[in-house]
Amino acid sequence: MTVYNVDGELVDRKEATVSVDDRGFRYGDGAFETCRAYGGTVFLWGKHRERLEQTCETLGMREAVPGDLRARIDETLAANDLAEAYVRVSVTRGVQPGKLTPDEDVDPTVVVYVKPLPAGGTDGEAVWDDPATVESVATRRIPDSALPADAKTQNYLNGILARLELRESERGADESLMCDLDGYVAEGATSNLFFVDDGTLMTPEAGSILPGITRGTVLELADWIDVPSETGRYTVGDVRRAEEAFLTNTTWEIRPIARLDGAAVGGGPVTDRLRRAYDETVDRRCYGDTDGSGNEGRD
Ligand code: PMP
Repeated sequence: MTVYNVDGELVDRKEATVSVDDRGFRYGDGAFETCRAYGGTVFLWGKHRERLEQTCETLGMREAVPGDLRARIDETLAANDLAEAYVRVSVTRGVQPGKLTPDEDVDPTVVVYVKPLPAGGTDGEAVWDDPATVESVATRRIPDSALPADAKTQNYLNGILARLELRESERGADESLMCDLDGYVAEGATSNLFFVDDGTLMTPEAGSILPGITRGTVLELADWIDVPSETGRYTVGDVRRAEEAFLTNTTWEIRPIARLDGAAVGGGPVTDRLRRAYDETVDRRCYGDTDGSGNEGRD
């Protein structure tokens, strides 16, 4: 039996319900976070909480994030006896029937979902070790001027349409790669993109992307292990010609790109070093392995 946490109460998943008048259901009016627990500890929870608060602030409901959210997550993981897990938190503007303009007073709906990771996801090993196939799509990334790119809102139709485009064109791939309105490469439906050119790590600049937490960690780790990095505006052709390329997100971690639009790309030495450094960070922060740096333990 899987148990979710709905507004602070543990509920059997099959019994868990949200009102049909909830604005999350009506309009996608809410925020969410996807986190990953290793050994029962949510990796980089502080950063996820910060982004959730930031998104709620963008939506004019900063106070919607409950103070005890971390405790609710821990309790839900424990109730499901899960240590290696996918954790999703949804915070909607709650029940407000009637009109599009929201009320200032918000009684949010807050749901914590957990599910086990696919087999193999123990001891911090990457679950998605197999490289990803990627296809670039015609669907453009919604511009920041229409929907702030750094807000992780419940509106995921952009990514869904990008994935549907692949399905409908019968080009099977793990991820759809979207460009911005100017034709520069932006991000995947649920992931950020990196590539390596002449030993330098490149990633699309903030503006037309969700600046992922994993992306931020990878840029910090690159600095740490002396891999030069830059952010900028690149074309799909730049990525196709790259020495190495990979995708990042919280669940996939660092996932090499096997093929982009049918052309072989693959991982390589820089990707491997970053993956090792990422695993070490997870070990230190979630499994309590210490290296004397003082960075160990829960955040
Ligand atoms: N871009 C988009 C559109 C996403 O949905 C995600 C997944 N949250 C990412 C990038 C990667 O973000 P993170 O590393 O924080 O999981």
